[in-house]
Amino acid sequence: MNRGMWKLFNLCVFLILNLNADSSFEFELIKKGQENNNTLLVVGGIQGDEPGGFMAASILSTHYEIKKGSLWVVPNLNFYSIIQRGRGVYGDMNRKFKYLPQDDPEYTIVERIKHHINEPQVKIVVNLHDGSGYYRTKYIDALHSPDRWGQCSIIDQAYLENHQYGDLESISAQVVEHVNQNLIRVEDRYGVRNTQTREGNAEMEKTLTYYAINQGKAAFGNEASKSLPTHERVYYHLLALEKYMQIAGIEFERKFSLTPRGVYGAINNDIYISLYDDRIRLPLSQVRDVLSFVPLKKDAELQFKGSNPLLTMYKDDNCYLIQYGNRRLARIKPEHMEYDDISAKVLFEIDGKERFVEFGEIVDVKKSFIAKDEENFRINVIGYSTSAPKESGVEIQRQQILKRYSVDKEGKVYRVEYYNQNRFCGMVLVKFI
Ligand SMILES: [Zn+2]
Repeated sequence: MNRGMWKLFNLCVFLILNLNADSSFEFELIKKGQENNNTLLVVGGIQGDEPGGFMAASILSTHYEIKKGSLWVVPNLNFYSIIQRGRGVYGDMNRKFKYLPQDDPEYTIVERIKHHINEPQVKIVVNLHDGSGYYRTKYIDALHSPDRWGQCSIIDQAYLENHQYGDLESISAQVVEHVNQNLIRVEDRYGVRNTQTREGNAEMEKTLTYYAINQGKAAFGNEASKSLPTHERVYYHLLALEKYMQIAGIEFERKFSLTPRGVYGAINNDIYISLYDDRIRLPLSQVRDVLSFVPLKKDAELQFKGSNPLLTMYKDDNCYLIQYGNRRLARIKPEHMEYDDISAKVLFEIDGKERFVEFGEIVDVKKSFIAKDEENFRINVIGYSTSAPKESGVEIQRQQILKRYSVDKEGKVYRVEYYNQNRFCGMVLVKFI
C-alpha cells in the first residue's frame, strides 16, 4: 500500500468508527422509588469489558422494586464500548473526569454523567467495576496482592467533611463486612482499599469517583474479580449495593433469591425483545444464532424495546444484530415489507380448547394447535410442510414443522405470522412444552 492509499484507508476507518458511534448507544438514567434529597446513584459500564458491574446495575434496575427512598441507576454508561466488547473504544472513560478536550468523542457522555452526579438530590455515588485478581493488603502471590483490584471496596480518602455520609472509611468497612458474611468461597473475601488520591495519585485523580468527591458527594468504587464467572461478580456487586441501599435508608423488594444460582437466572431467564409495539416479541434466552425472513417495516425506523437496558438491536450490513451487554445473541435477516395497522386478537384452538391470542404472545402447546381466523388473514406457519394444502384451519403438531425453522435452539418455539394480502399484521409464537 502506498502512502496515499494508506491515508485513504485510515480516513475510511475513521469514517466507519464515527458512523458507528451512534446516538442510539446513549446511556440510560433510570429513576426508581420516590425522588428525594437522599438519592443513591449507581453507575455501571464505565468500561465496556466489565460485565459484572453493568449486569449488576441492569438487574438492580429491572429486578428490584424500591419501596422507600430514591435510587438512580445508570446501567450502561459506556454503552458503545459494551456493545463493541472493549474496555474503551475511545480510550479509558474512567480517566476522563479531570480534564477532557471538547473534541473527545465521549465529551458529551462525560458531561452528561457529571451533570447527574452534581444534581443536588444525589448524596452517594457508587461506581461498579470488575478488577483483576484479588486485592490483599500484603503480597501473597501475583494474583493476590496490593496491586490487584478485584474484590474490594474503594475510597479515595477516609473522610469527606460536612457530609451526612462523610465517614467513607466506616461505610466502606460496613459494606465489606456484609459481603464477607456471604462469601461463596474464602478466597473471595473483600477488603477496603483507600487509594489516598489527594496525596498525589495522578491516575485516580482522573476518575469518576474522585470527581464526585470534589463535588461534595460520598463516592465509592465497588470491584468484583475478573477471575470469577460473570454471575458471581454480579452476586458480589448486588450484596454490596444492598448494603449501600440499607445505609441510605432505601427499602426494596427483590424479585429473585440473592444466591449465585438466583442471580444466574435473573441474568439469563425471561429476556426478550419486542418489535413495533409487540407486533413481534422474540424470547432470547435460547434464541438461534440466525433468524431469517423476519418481517421488518419497510422504509421505516426500527422500533424495539428490550426487557432490560443492556439489550439493543442495530443494523449491521444487511442484517440486524441483537446484543445483550457483551453478548451477541442473534443475527436477524430481515424481510422488509409493508405493515398493516390492524390490531386484533386472533383465534386459536390449543389442545382442543379455543382461545383468543394477541400479537406478540407466546402460547404454550402440549400436543397440537389450530390457527383459525382464516377468513380474516392469510396465515403462515413458518416451517410447516409446504406440501400440505393449507396452513390455517388445520391441526398442526410439532413433528409437522421443520425444526430448523424454530426461533429457539431446542426446536420448541415456532412462528405463526398473519398477513392482510402482502401486508404483515403480527406474529404469535407457539411453544411446544
Ligand atoms: Zn473498571
